[in-house]
Amino acid sequence: MKIVILDGYTENPGDLSWEGFENLGELTVYDRTPLNDDDEIIKRIGDAEVVITNKTPIRKVVFDACPNIKYIGVLATGYNVVDYETAKSKGIPVTNIPTYGTDAVGQFAIAMLLEICHHVAHHSDAVHEGRWTSCPDFCFWDYPLIELAGKTMGIIGFGRIGQSTGRIAKALNMKVIAYDEYPNDAGKEIAEYVSLDELLAQSDVISLHCPLFPSTEGIINKNNIAKMKDGVIILNNSRGPLIVEQDLCDALNSGKVFAAGLDVVSTEPIKADNVLLKAKNCIITPHISWAPKESRARLMNIAVDNLKAFVDGNPINVVNK
Ligand code: NAD
Repeated sequence: MKIVILDGYTENPGDLSWEGFENLGELTVYDRTPLNDDDEIIKRIGDAEVVITNKTPIRKVVFDACPNIKYIGVLATGYNVVDYETAKSKGIPVTNIPTYGTDAVGQFAIAMLLEICHHVAHHSDAVHEGRWTSCPDFCFWDYPLIELAGKTMGIIGFGRIGQSTGRIAKALNMKVIAYDEYPNDAGKEIAEYVSLDELLAQSDVISLHCPLFPSTEGIINKNNIAKMKDGVIILNNSRGPLIVEQDLCDALNSGKVFAAGLDVVSTEPIKADNVLLKAKNCIITPHISWAPKESRARLMNIAVDNLKAFVDGNPINVVNK
């Protein structure tokens, strides 16, 4: 069985092993494949039966040109890069990794928040540059420092990652409220469910953890920002298009929103002219919430198990049944 991994680098930049796949067939790994070059994608897949992709699109034209494909494994939770309906019509299962990094993503949301509250790296750099040595006082700080205890964290989308984030916020003695279309009992143990408008009005920190759906796209917009407290902090490590970026930029520059921590933006990698790059108090990281080694190792194991289950005739985590 020939297995082709089209874009393995972000999953395994060298600190993990592809051995699990190697044990299942003849493996070829490409670090990256051009996303818009179907001819190259077709050439690289060739006569392989198994295709593993993370962000390289598998469009209809690719299925048509590569009749040997029997299985597509996506190295991520979101599988919209694959034309899974065409795959289905050809009897090709597409699998995903439903969950692998819940705690890491929750941890990262709080890491962005703590950075906004303390600017640890900035102050350490300042000390290494000699500013403490030459300081007339026993301490100095360059940003307002913020205590979280007693403040309210509002979480939009209170599923796995939202609840993980909520548990950490509670450990910091924050009050946690949540808005979710489908409240559940596990969530009620951690937070009080409220309406979206109540959440917007009551929260000192708003953290986004809902998926990107037509109903959630642009949920952070001018109108909803106007309903928030002055000086609110906004966190987003879910999906960039949840935020209307120009509206957030305006609100950061006016001070209505005190700060934002973003691990995702509308177009990734970020475009050089993204307005948020010049907004006040805006921390932006390059979509790394999912990427601790522990999470990627879990993802790798599940991806290998998905393929094994297919080979054994009992496919699991199939998204196009
Ligand atoms: P989940 O399915 O467990 O939770 C999502 C929650 O959102 C559910 O409780 C659902 O009821 C709720 N929801 C759906 N529609 C809603 C709406 N219109 N308004 C409010 N709530 C709504 O998913 P999860 O595992 O917690 O992941 C959440 C998101 O995190 C993913 O969709 C993904 O976009 C993002 N994510 C980001 C990274 C990263 O590296 N930055 C990694 C993994 C996941």
